[in-house]
Amino acid sequence: MNPVGKPGKSGSLMPVEQALARLLEMAEASRIVERERLPLAQVQGRVLAEDLVSTLDLPPWPNSAMDGYALRMADWTGEPLLVSQKVFAGQAPDPLQPGTCARIFTGAPVPAGADCVEMQENAEVQADERVRFIQALTQGQNIRPQGQETTVGELILPAGTRLGPIEQGLAASLGCAELAVVRKVRVAVLSTGDELIEPGQALGPGQIYNSNRVLLCSWLQRLGCEVVDAGILPDNLETTRSRLGELKDVDLILSTGGVSVGEADFLGIALREEGELTLWKLAIKPGKPLTFGHFRGVPVIGLPGNPASTLVTFALLTRPYLLRRQGVQDVEPLKVQVPAGFDWLQPGSRREYLRGRLENGRATIYKNQSSGVLRSAAWADGLVEVLEDRTLVPGDSVFFIPLSEVLG
Ligand code: AMP
Ligand code: MG
Repeated sequence: MNPVGKPGKSGSLMPVEQALARLLEMAEASRIVERERLPLAQVQGRVLAEDLVSTLDLPPWPNSAMDGYALRMADWTGEPLLVSQKVFAGQAPDPLQPGTCARIFTGAPVPAGADCVEMQENAEVQADERVRFIQALTQGQNIRPQGQETTVGELILPAGTRLGPIEQGLAASLGCAELAVVRKVRVAVLSTGDELIEPGQALGPGQIYNSNRVLLCSWLQRLGCEVVDAGILPDNLETTRSRLGELKDVDLILSTGGVSVGEADFLGIALREEGELTLWKLAIKPGKPLTFGHFRGVPVIGLPGNPASTLVTFALLTRPYLLRRQGVQDVEPLKVQVPAGFDWLQPGSRREYLRGRLENGRATIYKNQSSGVLRSAAWADGLVEVLEDRTLVPGDSVFFIPLSEVLG
């Protein structure tokens, strides 16, 4: 990895890590502190607001890991034993009568006094229904001891954990019917550009369909945000000002487009007038220009308009920002190192995130990596990271970020 701020061909471009660190600092400073209690079934995608501490031992009592027979090792002489009780899962057994065994099924509590379970495959039921155990036994075999997973008072999930099916299942196993979660981040999505119209309308000269709006709205929902769909913003200062002004009670205004060099940047002007603006030129491709600022106190992130740029900058910068605002610490996606399956002969001054796939364990890339081509990402199942100033030949190592890591 290149160290942060490494001077080089990238010149005054800001390294991705530095931009991310700045965004995370700002997210930390405006952490959402409000919380709500929700039924367990409704916490998917949300962030735990307080530590989850176990009030139970798991399992609460020793239970059988097998269908078989519970017995006391000391009673095993090679002679058949009488079956003195049957214990199914969900039943409370009597203490084991000395010199006998108990028929037992998986998950059933082990009777007091028994210290091992033999699986039924190693037991011979005699004509008189007594049972002979064929093999030598070991103490505790096939018994899941009380508290083997969790003991009372243990920290199970720290505050700041993102909740998904596994965490929901774990909380359920501890008997939690509700969890305290951070309130949803409210994000207003704005698409800027006079050329944009919504799908369903007839395309006029010079117009294109707005793809970023639905892409971001649906992605934000997957991330557990409350989305305020603020529609299309024309390239016009008056309207920009008044539409931004309407978005008072949101935690973030997320816009796309209007940040390219040379364009009349109405969002930027409005922020400069009534808030603050930082314009970053990032050492990232696709996605160089990125705006961060405030409008009348509301944080604003302006992503570049090309759909593949929107996608990459949302995945790598906005998503971590949104998670950190909810108190998540571990906000960066998992990357795996894989061999490249392609040539990369022209080193770039910006870090590239190529839309790619793993084929036979090697990263391959879509044939057209233009930032306007969203289809590249639909074909892909991950982003292939090529560092600044690097060339590659097949077999060289690259990082691969699965899209599934960043989409939810
Ligand atoms: P801009 O950053 O406004 O200069 O936009 C860069 C490119 O992305 C232009 O080709 C725009 O037409 C395109 N673009 C901007 N916003 C959108 C959008 N919401 N959906 C699809 N393409 C867009
Ligand atoms: Mg534009």
